[in-house]
Amino acid sequence: MADESLVKLATSLAIVAVAMMLAAWRLARGTGVRAGAPVVASDVGIEAAATLEDDTLGLRGRPDYLVRERGRGRIYPVEVKPTRDARVLYESDALQLATYMVLTEARYGSAFAGYGVVRYRSAEFRVDLTAELRRRCLAARDGVRSARRAASVHRSHAIAARCAACAVRPVCGEALVGGSV
Ligand code: SF4
Repeated sequence: MADESLVKLATSLAIVAVAMMLAAWRLARGTGVRAGAPVVASDVGIEAAATLEDDTLGLRGRPDYLVRERGRGRIYPVEVKPTRDARVLYESDALQLATYMVLTEARYGSAFAGYGVVRYRSAEFRVDLTAELRRRCLAARDGVRSARRAASVHRSHAIAARCAACAVRPVCGEALVGGSV
């Protein structure tokens, strides 16, 4: 009887192990998140979502994943665009990721890895948070702030796809799709 219980337990553990390996493989294949890489937060249901915001910077956003590096333990954001099939990173996506990187740095300080990842359907881009990219990100933020100050400037359409492709979406207060302030 005891042997039978042990066999059942071993079988259950084996099934759980295979299921976990399959889940890691699916995550890695679909998102670019390395198999076994610890996910700190997720906007797609794997872990609790993390809304990153910084009032001083005037930025707010929710990356698809916050992932911890294996080994060094540093944290970086991952943004996944499964319907995007391009070999070159869109400027709007670079700015969106830059916003998440600036916010990750603001929250985690020196634990921020210094880069982020954008994953398209069949391409992956590792993007360093360079001084130039940071400047472009903050310039986009300033552009949106200026537009807001111009009182009469509001969204003039109801096209979610337009917002989805917009370079200033991460810092726009009237975007029709997620990740905006
Ligand atoms: S995110 Fe949408 S509402 Fe905001 S500026 Fe871009 S297109 Fe306009």
